[in-house]
Amino acid sequence: MGKFNLDGIGMTSQRTRDRLVDRLVSQGIQDARVLELIGKIPRHIFIEEALAHRAYEDTALPIGHGQTISQPYIVALMSQTLFNIPRAKILEVGTGCGYQTALLAHLADSVYSVERIEALMPGARERFGALGINNVHTRIGDGYEGWERFAPFDGIIVTAAPPEIPQALLAQITEGGRLVMPVGNAASQHIQIVDNLDGDLVQSTGDAVRFVPMLRGIA
Ligand code: SAH
Repeated sequence: MGKFNLDGIGMTSQRTRDRLVDRLVSQGIQDARVLELIGKIPRHIFIEEALAHRAYEDTALPIGHGQTISQPYIVALMSQTLFNIPRAKILEVGTGCGYQTALLAHLADSVYSVERIEALMPGARERFGALGINNVHTRIGDGYEGWERFAPFDGIIVTAAPPEIPQALLAQITEGGRLVMPVGNAASQHIQIVDNLDGDLVQSTGDAVRFVPMLRGIA
């Protein structure tokens, strides 16, 4: 066996995952692929061992460096919003522990994931390896700039909240593409959705959320 116990924590793991999926369904998550992935992907390997028993609670948990793994409901909601239609090439800002990235890797052909905290990346990469995920490209960098070299993207997802949508990200949405991200400050944040419709950017506002702030530069 490798470093990660992919089966789960004890015998109850699949049942615990199924319970989480049931909960997400009752909260309105409908995308069958997203629900299936949340039922399958072992969230406990993305969390330090002392907290792993809480991995299938619908809650955010610390992943070190002052950051958190997002709440499963929010991961599901943003994934289902991003994949309202099939999207092949995705930019993710905020790799963190890599859990959202792992979902994206199954929903898209390729994922380009940028993280500003270098120390988080080895763990995320190790988990992708353990899960057999090989369509994720990672980079240490400032997500305010997107990833110019591989732009444009069919989908862009950001898992940290800036005060305003970064211009570079708007410029990297392909025609027909969609950006989904939280925007706001510590007191008030909402999911923003931007669709590039034949070159016109059309924005709409979604749920109230609470993400860590999107910071500038690399750590
Ligand atoms: N989606 C991940 C991380 C959520 S926490 C998970 O569920 O584990 C938000 C992440 O965004 C943190 O890892 C933080 O370091 C990163 N982040 C914040 N500002 C960023 C920026 N400008 N560029 C890239 N990553 C950033």
